[in-house]
Amino acid sequence: MDVVHYFPKGYADGRGKFLEACSSLLDHAPITLDSISHPLSGPDGEALATDIAVIGNPAAKRVLLLNTATHGTEGACGSGCMIGWLRSVGYAELPTNVRVVLVHAINPHGYAYVRRVTEDNVDLNRNFLDHDQPYPENPGYTGIHDDLIPAKWVGPEREAADQRLVAYADAQGAPALQAAISGGQYTHPDGLFFGGNAPTWSNLTFRDILRTIVAPAETVGFIDYHTGLGPYGTAELISGFPVDSPEFGRLVEWYGNGLASSAPGGASTSSSLSGCIDAAIPQELPDAEAVVVTAEYGTYSVKRVIDALRGDTWLANNRDGVDPELAAAIKAEVRQALYPDERDWKELVYLRSRQLIRRAIQALAEKV
Ligand SMILES: [Zn+2]
Repeated sequence: MDVVHYFPKGYADGRGKFLEACSSLLDHAPITLDSISHPLSGPDGEALATDIAVIGNPAAKRVLLLNTATHGTEGACGSGCMIGWLRSVGYAELPTNVRVVLVHAINPHGYAYVRRVTEDNVDLNRNFLDHDQPYPENPGYTGIHDDLIPAKWVGPEREAADQRLVAYADAQGAPALQAAISGGQYTHPDGLFFGGNAPTWSNLTFRDILRTIVAPAETVGFIDYHTGLGPYGTAELISGFPVDSPEFGRLVEWYGNGLASSAPGGASTSSSLSGCIDAAIPQELPDAEAVVVTAEYGTYSVKRVIDALRGDTWLANNRDGVDPELAAAIKAEVRQALYPDERDWKELVYLRSRQLIRRAIQALAEKV
């Protein structure tokens, strides 16, 4: 099959393809399926849910956990990779001591509405921290919030705001601007990369999946699919641990090349982050070894991606009275910026995902 057909148009198509692919395995592979309903519905009234498939020996305590749509609309990338794995050689390469858990759309609302965030404008990958403790500070964000989301998206106010952002990058450096924008903030609920002030539905749901479906586990290999940073179609394998840590060394053993650390001083295209989704694994499964990585597939330039997210946040904050053509153009750009509708991109993504899954299963199976 042409791998491009594995990749969905959006959430509803992705969910349908995922469930069909699971059904097609029922007669010749051990597979179970669970669905957790989201309280809200999609833009066309469709049901929203997180669907979880477990494939392989149900007693196996070595688990490969694949997750998509932590960042909503980025989820179509991971959908295509999961659907393709199910439809192609997937189960055939699975040894009896490894179980694979596929989480299809941990943030179904964002995926369905072509947003990176959850229903409450929360960046789920900044939401997994202790909300009873003081939040990390990001004074850089506060200084540029009004320029990131100007009062009007088109016209002189936007142009002036863009000029001030360019001046910030010129003075502080582009990485500092990227860190201020994307490092996460807990002060502006209507802003970009807002980490929330409480655990979101998707946060609680992911923890529930870990406790009730992934457990019991002795080792959890976790791959979280993302898009937007780095070279086009290439997966940067991002670890939040420093390169000289045992956790990073473990990832090198598993995956070999393509790894980068987002810890301070690391070479990753990602800024240093806190509150990422993988933090839940040691909290909910304290007895398991967690080998976690973010597969970040590049799309376009950082500026193009950030501008798309600025536009989407502006639109969400100004939904009434926006010219429908402008609204449609903003949504089309968000979709394209995080999920290029290009054959070349999907082929690259799929091939690399196949490699990563194969290596993770092999590492789990041979682990001593
Ligand atoms: Zn992401």
